[in-house]
Amino acid sequence: MGKKKTESNFLYSHNPNGMFKLLWGTLENSDNAEVLLEIDETELMNLEKERFGISRDKLVFIGMANLSKYYWCAWQYYLKSKKNEQEFFLAYFQDRLKYSKELGMLKKIPKNEKEILRIGDEINFKQIQNLLDKKQVINSSNEAKEEIMELLKKEDDPLIKGYYHQTLYAENYPSIRWNFRYKDIAILGIPDGITDDFVYEFKYTSKKRYFSHTLRTARLQADFYGHYFNKPKKKIQIYCEEENKVHTYFENVDNKEILELLEKWTQMIDGKLPVKPQSWKCTKCEFKDECILIKS
Ligand code: SF4
Repeated sequence: MGKKKTESNFLYSHNPNGMFKLLWGTLENSDNAEVLLEIDETELMNLEKERFGISRDKLVFIGMANLSKYYWCAWQYYLKSKKNEQEFFLAYFQDRLKYSKELGMLKKIPKNEKEILRIGDEINFKQIQNLLDKKQVINSSNEAKEEIMELLKKEDDPLIKGYYHQTLYAENYPSIRWNFRYKDIAILGIPDGITDDFVYEFKYTSKKRYFSHTLRTARLQADFYGHYFNKPKKKIQIYCEEENKVHTYFENVDNKEILELLEKWTQMIDGKLPVKPQSWKCTKCEFKDECILIKS
């Protein structure tokens, strides 16, 4: 039987100077791929902002996880979102290209920046739901879990520990990343799971004393997912290491809370400074040397 010919697709390359290359070809034969675009990553993001009719300086591409940290310190997560905006833009951009191809919506190979940025404009939420329905859930093997238990013994980084605990204790559901517009913001999110009735969010906390903050953030994050992925319920699980226990909450999605929070975000993006957090939160903040809130 002959070998099946691999279909051409979008390929990406980034170099350390911030240049982004979009190619059309196959991974097996990437040296012969056609270069569709070679551009500075920030410039590409700014062209998309211009297409939206939004100023280049304004924060536009934001993750739901950052939006949901508003009540920890809104300014910290505004600055963090500015710092990470390019990353979120590229996720937004690549999802639009990838799903357009998967959905058979690509009628011709785009030849210039304008055509490339327009790809994905026609994707609707029903099509995202159809793509989600085709997703397979991958369960970790017992061997992989045993390996993670060993790695956890020598790991200190809370982010990596959270990822390990998620592999060990979280429930497995399919999910998909997609973006949604609210006024001038393009909001990106990928829930930990999406079912017919609920979105699923898993969090990890090392100590009982951090639990209430973790729960507040988890609720808001799950509300964002529920609101945008159109599910009535949210299931939240928080693993507390100190107790070695998974806490489970199954609640209605609070759409009103999300719309109120988005208004606060748009006001902050438009220049209204948020309230200062409790000062102890500043001691470990990566922005404390440049923060206008603590200087005000
Ligand atoms: S230094 Fe304090 S007020 Fe400023 S961003 Fe950080 S946590 Fe917020």
